[in-house]
Order: sequence, then structure tokens, then C-alpha cells
Amino acid sequence: MRRLPFIYIEDDIYEELICSICQEPLQNPILTEKCDHLYCRSCIVAHLELEKSCPLCREPLTMRELRDAPRLITNVLEKLLIQCNTCKTQMRHHLFPAHQSECNFQCPLGCGSIVRVCTLNDHERLCKRRLVSCTARDIKCAWSGMRGDLENHLASCAFEQMRHVIGHYQNQVEALQEKNEFLETTIVEMRVKCESVLEKHEADIKSLTKDVNQVRAQAPKNENTDSCAIL
Ligand SMILES: [Zn+2]
Ligand SMILES: [Zn+2]
Ligand SMILES: [Zn+2]
Ligand SMILES: [Zn+2]
Ligand SMILES: [Zn+2]
Repeated sequence: MRRLPFIYIEDDIYEELICSICQEPLQNPILTEKCDHLYCRSCIVAHLELEKSCPLCREPLTMRELRDAPRLITNVLEKLLIQCNTCKTQMRHHLFPAHQSECNFQCPLGCGSIVRVCTLNDHERLCKRRLVSCTARDIKCAWSGMRGDLENHLASCAFEQMRHVIGHYQNQVEALQEKNEFLETTIVEMRVKCESVLEKHEADIKSLTKDVNQVRAQAPKNENTDSCAIL
């Protein structure tokens, strides 16, 4: 069922002015051309999307057979007494659209301010009873409380008072982290370089050993040419 932003507070509303679909007094009343039945516009439009007949008499019915209700009906409906759901003010129905733009009520957070419905969002942002965190939350102050108490808290907030000291150390830590990262990458680079030099040396030694073995193998094999024997 439709939720209206107001309630009707009259007990004895003519039965003819009640919509048989939503059981509420008619909103934007529509009359069926053939059978003279009245419905709210939104109620009968929604009904015809499902079923092409009049809900009261079951006669076939289409959108083209709907007419605006006579002026007399809308006049009576406009004079019905209603109560705004938000501020509980009572008024005639036709005054409600104008009322909605200036409807106001007590702040739901309990600050005591009277708030207009249209500025509720702005008020909630600035309301002194809104829950906020300390401005030093970035440097780990865990305080949270009502906006109106923030100033008091800040006067004694150790984190905010130490912000310049904490900030100084934070900068130092960041600088050290940067330096550390640089050193780590340098170490990795040097290790890679050492390994490649080592590999090259191993290859050199291998090829030299091979050369020496080859020279040895090609040397003339004469036992008598032994230097010791000559001497
Ligand atoms: Zn209705
Ligand atoms: Zn009908
Ligand atoms: Zn209101
Ligand atoms: Zn407030
Ligand atoms: Zn704080």
C-alpha cells in the first residue's frame, strides 16, 4: 500500500470518497467513463497494467475510458482535514503541498534546533550532537564524540598537541624507510654482479685448464730429455 506523508484525521469521510483499491480517501481522483466508479489515479493505472477491467463492477475497462473526476469531488477532498506525519500539524488537504516546503520539526539528534525538512541534510552535517572523530585521528587519537564536545577535547588532546613532534618523527621514519629500500635494492644489484663475475672466472679457469692439458698432451714424450739426466 501507498505511504502518504500525512494521515486523514476525519472519521466520517463519505464512503464514495474512499478508493476501493487502497481504502484511503481518493488522491487525484479518476472517474470511469462507462460505470461511474472513482479511484485514485495511481491505483487504477497500476490495476489496469494487470487487468483490463473495473475493479468494482468487473466491466471491461481501458486507459482511454478514464476521465478526471468532477470538480465537486476534488473540492470536497481538498477540504478534508489531515495531519503532517513529520511535524504533526493539522491542515486542510489542499494546503499540504505548500506546507511541505516549510514543514519543520525538532532535530532528530536532540540538539533542540527546529529543522526544516528541506535543510535536514545540511543540519545533520553541522549539528552539535552529530558523532565525530578527533581531528588527530590520522595520528591515532581514538576519541569520538559529539561535534559540540570536539573543541573541549581538542583543548586537552595529547595527540593534537604533540602533532608537530609526532609529525617530525613520522617524517624521520619515512626517510629511513626510503633509505632502507634503496640499500636493499643496492645489495640485490651487487649480489647479481658478484655472481656474474664469479661465473666468468669459473669459465676462464675451465678453459685455461683445458689449454694446459692440451699443451701437456702435445709435448714430445722423451724420457731422456729429462733435465736431471743431462746434468
Ligand atoms: Zn486508491
Ligand atoms: Zn465499474
Ligand atoms: Zn509538517
Ligand atoms: Zn541538531
Ligand atoms: Zn584527540
